[in-house]
Amino acid sequence: MMNNNILEVRDLKVSFRTYAGEVQAVRGVSFDLKKGEVLAIVGESGCGKSVTAQTIMRLIPSPPSIIKNGSIKFNGKTEITRLSNREMEKIRGSEMGMIFQDPMTSLNPTMTVGKQITEGIVKHHKVSGEEANKRALEILKLVGMSNPEGRMQQYPHEFSGGMRQRVMIAIALACSPKLLIADEPTTALDVTIQAQIIELMKKLSEKTEASIIVITHDLGVVAEMAQRVIVMYAGKVVEQGTVDEIFYESKHPYTWGLLRSVPRLDQDKDNELVPIPGTPPDLFSPPKGCAFAARCPYAMSVCGQIDPEHTVLSETHSAACWLLHEGAPKVERPVEAGGAAR
Ligand code: SF4
Repeated sequence: MMNNNILEVRDLKVSFRTYAGEVQAVRGVSFDLKKGEVLAIVGESGCGKSVTAQTIMRLIPSPPSIIKNGSIKFNGKTEITRLSNREMEKIRGSEMGMIFQDPMTSLNPTMTVGKQITEGIVKHHKVSGEEANKRALEILKLVGMSNPEGRMQQYPHEFSGGMRQRVMIAIALACSPKLLIADEPTTALDVTIQAQIIELMKKLSEKTEASIIVITHDLGVVAEMAQRVIVMYAGKVVEQGTVDEIFYESKHPYTWGLLRSVPRLDQDKDNELVPIPGTPPDLFSPPKGCAFAARCPYAMSVCGQIDPEHTVLSETHSAACWLLHEGAPKVERPVEAGGAAR
């Protein structure tokens, strides 16, 4: 049978060794990404979403990070966790691209934008400088840059924040990657520019057929861009589903909390935002039961004892919560999380 997945992550565990002990940042994450699909990974800061993404790209130095367990299979055959740094470098920039939150920290301030785009093309595709220039101009046009010939000669500081983000996207796209990972791609931008960058990335995913993982805490970005969503909490996936399943049928109290605490583009601006009380658990020694128990208004005694398994709710939807057990009390989705909307 033909494998339609560009990425298969299985039981991934990533820790950081520190003087104070081991931080278990990612604690058994599994998911698939289909070819051409846009997947959002959401959660509060420290939930393990960025560590998961950077481990897929092997961008976190080891030590201090260690992949303790699991598999990351890319394009049906390449086992990312076993590649040498050299082999991985070949894949990064040719088959995978990354877009960071702050372009200023990832762009080289001393090199023209044209040089930064063509460098990767020449290195990974072994084409002439002239060919690479032609390709760079095409990409700058594709990301909506006017006067691309002139822009090629300029340095990053001569660009506005939104334009710099377009340059970063152009660099990531230069080698026609099969997988693009965008880590909080719009967080540093103002609202109007955010909308333009989201629109651009949506268009690009359709045009280039690249699969995209968007790491974000912003549910507006999720609603606008993604087809499927993974909700992470304390290093684990607590719920996953299509955008509609997460926005309108979610079953996990943490997802409800996120929906109430983060502004959504599809909701009235006057809707009151309710922060999730409490803080995430200490990942030096994660709790033995459900990691959300200390903050969950529905916690039962079993929650503090045993970590719930995922309950399958549809072909695309699953959640890890004891409330889904047949013997659990019936709890309705709160109105502020969209419970009365349907
Ligand atoms: Fe709340 Fe228990 Fe569900 Fe965890 S398992 S989210 S504590 S109800």
